[in-house]
Amino acid sequence: MTRPTNGLAAREPEDWRLDAECRDWDHELQGDPWHPNSDLPGAYDDARKICNGCPVAALCLQAAFDTESRSDAAIRYGMFGGKTPAERAAVLRKQRRLAA
Ligand code: SF4
Repeated sequence: MTRPTNGLAAREPEDWRLDAECRDWDHELQGDPWHPNSDLPGAYDDARKICNGCPVAALCLQAAFDTESRSDAAIRYGMFGGKTPAERAAVLRKQRRLAA
């Protein structure tokens, strides 16, 4: 791949992760709000606050949809793009209904 010579490295499509709000999160020190131990109401509140301020939330959500639309729903887990597994499943069901 050819890189520009002006000192700016070209970005790859997956490089959106470099701008993620969670990029430098220290899971050992700060825990993992994106993967709570329950699906009870409020379990994802801390993660949602972070995701809602993330500049690449739409790309993160699309990446999750791309992966999950090809997979068994049983592997859907964690918050991506500010949406819980149940919320993403509901969006995918709606998209499939509209496409049918
Ligand atoms: S939307 Fe949330 S999980 Fe996705 S990259 Fe941003 S902070 Fe991380």
